Amino acid sequence: MKFAIVSKGDERSETIKTRLIEQLTDYSLTYDLDHPDLVISVGGDGTFLEAFHRYIHCLKTTAFIGVHTGHLGFYADWVPSEVDQLVEEIAKTPFQIVEYPLLEVIIRSKSDRVEDRLLALNEAAIKTTDGSVVFDVEIKGEHFETFRGDGLCISTPSGSTAYNKALGGGIIHPALEAIQVTEMASINNRVFRTIGSPLILPKHHTCLLKPLVDRSFLLTVDHITDTYTNVKSIQCRVAKERVRFARFRPFPFWNRVRDSFVAEDDPTLPRR
Ligand code: NAP
Ligand code: MN
Repeated sequence: MKFAIVSKGDERSETIKTRLIEQLTDYSLTYDLDHPDLVISVGGDGTFLEAFHRYIHCLKTTAFIGVHTGHLGFYADWVPSEVDQLVEEIAKTPFQIVEYPLLEVIIRSKSDRVEDRLLALNEAAIKTTDGSVVFDVEIKGEHFETFRGDGLCISTPSGSTAYNKALGGGIIHPALEAIQVTEMASINNRVFRTIGSPLILPKHHTCLLKPLVDRSFLLTVDHITDTYTNVKSIQCRVAKERVRFARFRPFPFWNRVRDSFVAEDDPTLPRR
């Protein structure tokens, strides 16, 4: 089996990277940055996003795993003290695979050309540097609303605990093949009206954003921002591709949510 490591680059992550390479090659695994079967990210969730985008061209054949060197992460859920155990588990392949849904974003230009097709592990956030965004929002081919405001965030289930959560979106279990649309400061008055609540769309329900004013857009997919001009539409839906996680022990999604966001039980405090 071939493996690659993407490190955050700080001293702690680099030390773990070196240790992982030594131990895994001792088990006759091959360090191969070009065609890995397993990609190990060492750092935080941000590092995991980087690893995902680096190996996005081979999602079908690559599985990911995250070791965190900072606080507990959603994607980086192995701690440094467990590295020896992780190495043994990896060496004992085959391992179990768990798949999570992704978001597909297609940007079309005014000439109806597909300018870009992107995949997000967390979300796509659409904003502008130039005042508010004004979009016609279509769902499944029907006009839903005209949105005016700072922007919209369209997230995956595993990304629902990231930016989406800060925007008041709900947390979606990744077993649900869905995307969630959340608003960023929508303008609501007698002229402009939006739904105001997050929308959760199932697979095959496409959300199409059609700009009503000629602006350049800032599209942030996970941690990568690009500017687009001359945009006719931005199409979002559940992607046909999925991300594969190597799973060596159960760590249920809701436990990860609890451990990340709900204060741990402190036995010295009275029970609330
Ligand atoms: P960052 O500024 O370091 O990320 C912000 C925080 O989000 C970090 O604590 C990061 O964890 C955490 N995070 C990333 N994915 C997560 C997930 N699926 N569930 C829970 N927490 C998650 O930038 P970054 O590390 O490059 O990450 C990019 C992400 O930041 C974007 O995809 C977006 O979701 C998020 N973001 C959040 C806000 C906000 O909450 N207001 C605003 C902009 C962007 P680590 O520290 O482990 O990296
Ligand atoms: Mn980060």
